[in-house]
Amino acid sequence: MSWWTEEQDDVLREVSFRGATYAAAEIERRCGVAHSVRAVEMRASRIHCSLAIQTVCPQCGAVGVKINRQSGMCRRCTEEYHLEQERAFNEQLERERVAAEDAAGIDDVRRERDKMRQRNSRLCRKYGFKGSGSGKVDGMMFAPEPSCWNSRKRV
Ligand SMILES: [Zn+2]
Repeated sequence: MSWWTEEQDDVLREVSFRGATYAAAEIERRCGVAHSVRAVEMRASRIHCSLAIQTVCPQCGAVGVKINRQSGMCRRCTEEYHLEQERAFNEQLERERVAAEDAAGIDDVRRERDKMRQRNSRLCRKYGFKGSGSGKVDGMMFAPEPSCWNSRKRV
């Protein structure tokens, strides 16, 4: 005859939804008393505790919930998972947006520089300042100052 304490009954009630075999193992683990599966079934019947196995969400531990076949989680956890994915995607898009805006800003500066260079080039040509107008943009890029300046100093 099995010997039952209130503590064991509590454990039984707590894990009954996982079935008799699981309950027996859990009672032994937590209370140090080994009951047979049959003994657990009899005790459960006596204390009016159902041993019907119910689904458990592996994510949040909700009992008796419908498990989504694709995610393997309950509806709430599945929705939260999808929301998390959308958030991550949004963060990625935001980073890409910032990068795209930065690139657009650099292009604006570049266009402004081209405009200014052309203006200087026209001025050089008009007043005979030598140096610019060759169209060598890259050659000018690392010059300490526009070549037009040097020629103007010499004039
Ligand atoms: Zn869940």
